[in-house]
Amino acid sequence: MRKQLTLLSCFLFMLALILNGCGSEISPTAVEQPAEVESTAAKEVLAAAPVYKRTEIISSPNEAKQLLLDGNERFTAGKPLSKDLSFARRSELMKNGQHPFAVILSCSDSRVPPELLFDQALGDLFVIRIAGNVVTPVELGSVEYAVEHLNTPLVVVLGHEECGAVTAAVQNGETHGSITAILDKIKPAVDRATAMGASKSELIAKSAELNVQNAKIDILKSPIIEERLKANQVSVLGIMYDLDEGVLKLID
Ligand SMILES: [Zn+2]
Repeated sequence: MRKQLTLLSCFLFMLALILNGCGSEISPTAVEQPAEVESTAAKEVLAAAPVYKRTEIISSPNEAKQLLLDGNERFTAGKPLSKDLSFARRSELMKNGQHPFAVILSCSDSRVPPELLFDQALGDLFVIRIAGNVVTPVELGSVEYAVEHLNTPLVVVLGHEECGAVTAAVQNGETHGSITAILDKIKPAVDRATAMGASKSELIAKSAELNVQNAKIDILKSPIIEERLKANQVSVLGIMYDLDEGVLKLID
């Protein structure tokens, strides 16, 4: 009898624990109810962001340029579109091959990621990144590959405000290792900016712009690019990116 009473007490004790909420962490209600973490504003932003889509083959340089300008406008407005990064999209790109509509030769600076500041997705941009956005035969080979084999209609040299590589070239201090090779490519821009009478405060910004122009000139020396240019199948564009504003300035 005592044993039966003990068992009954244990059962009632367990039942009391469950009813008092000790089992609430695994109750169906707690699992199924979504946490109230999203504000109304966040929900509105997500609902208002359609998935980015574009015509697969872009062959017009002007159309390609407009896609970049539109993307940057969304970026600076804080309204980037959602990107389809799904397995289905990745498989589609693998099966169909890539058709990037722009080559972006950009500085490696971590604050200048082309896919983000142009608001583009997988398969859209053929990106070459190098500190100081300089062009050596290796970078030029990548540009030629995209233009000749992928039929990409636009090449952009993307420089930016407060570039460390340009600043180092302007300061002309002692350098070590292979950094010297990069600065040697930038120095002609600094020399030209100085010869043009840029003041001390203007020198870095002016050198950065001229450095973009020099990279453009290097790209235009390629017979492959020149041929496509004459046929109006490609454009080469220089752009400066404003780090904090996020906006673009076209460089002639
Ligand atoms: Zn830079």
